Amino acid sequence: MILDYVAPRTLAEACALGREPGTVFLAGGTDVLVWGADGRRRLGRVVSLRGLPELRERRWREDGSLYLGAGTTHDEVASDPEIQKQYPVLAEGCRSVGSWSIRVAGTLGGNVCTAAPSADSAGPLLVYGAELELTDGESRWSLPLVDFYMGAGKTVLQPGQIVLGFHLPNPGYHGAAFVKLGRRRAMEIALVSATALVKLDDADACRDLHLALGTAAPTPMLVEGAAEMAAGRLFDEGLVNQIAQAAAAQARPRIGSFRCDPDYRRRMVAVTAGRAVTAAWDRAQDEGRVS
Ligand SMILES: Cc1cc2nc3c(=O)[nH]c(=O)nc-3n(C[C@H](O)[C@H](O)[C@H](O)COP(=O)(O)OP(=O)(O)OC[C@H]3O[C@@H](n4cnc5c(N)ncnc54)[C@H](O)[C@@H]3O)c2cc1C
Repeated sequence: MILDYVAPRTLAEACALGREPGTVFLAGGTDVLVWGADGRRRLGRVVSLRGLPELRERRWREDGSLYLGAGTTHDEVASDPEIQKQYPVLAEGCRSVGSWSIRVAGTLGGNVCTAAPSADSAGPLLVYGAELELTDGESRWSLPLVDFYMGAGKTVLQPGQIVLGFHLPNPGYHGAAFVKLGRRRAMEIALVSATALVKLDDADACRDLHLALGTAAPTPMLVEGAAEMAAGRLFDEGLVNQIAQAAAAQARPRIGSFRCDPDYRRRMVAVTAGRAVTAAWDRAQDEGRVS
């Protein structure tokens, strides 16, 4: 039950309301309203961010980078032809969220701020090196997404602080893949997901590789050392296996999860990571050379 619903018209007003105890921001409401309905959270005062134009901005810069407002819905990301071209795996991640009715309401900002380890947009945003634009109503600052997460459901956000949007650098030519493992193919929260981005040179040797994991640890995470392992190397299954094993070794699967046991999850981290790297490399061979 919602006791009080407020729809501020300015950022300053929203942030001031957000500083009051017992307040929760609402964007698409696909997480907040579920928490309210199943009693996980008492929704004392809900402050809607939906009327704030700053969260709806979308700007392409001349250098090919993109600023995407936090209020952009998953469906808007997934169906934008320019985003599909420049950040294909972000479109893929957003397309895999829930169902159409969830994707037209749920936002990129909400997906990141909920800080679920399974958030489908998080891996793609991590491999593209996204930075968040934040405000407390008075000042603005940016922060790499990788530094935003503090734990499952926990972020660095203080009461009254809002994520305005995401800065996405131009990735240049690359191949990328998002692999999500669930019990079903639709309407499923990831048991494990892996997102890989690969850049190759003219000789097909690896110039850059980023690998992110979902539901492998309390927060979405980047696999450390993956780029170094692959640097200058040609594709081979042994290398993919080495990277997949490193991913599994870095995973910290939750103990006592009702979805699956930690040993299975760790093994599936290796499987999904290997598949994501292989698919990304394959795509990079078609389109990802950097001279
Ligand atoms: C049936 C169903 C299926 C789902 N399937 C998936 C799935 O497959 N994959 C997946 O990743 N998720 C899934 N979800 C979860 C959910 O849809 C996503 O996390 C969604 O992106 C949340 O966005 P929202 O705009 O609805 O957030 P809200 O529910 O409005 O907000 C979520 C949290 O973020 C905070 N918040 C929102 N925007 C901001 C902002 N700009 N600044 C600061 N704080 C903010 C809110 O205060 C709240 O704490 C599913 C949910 C349902 C109900």
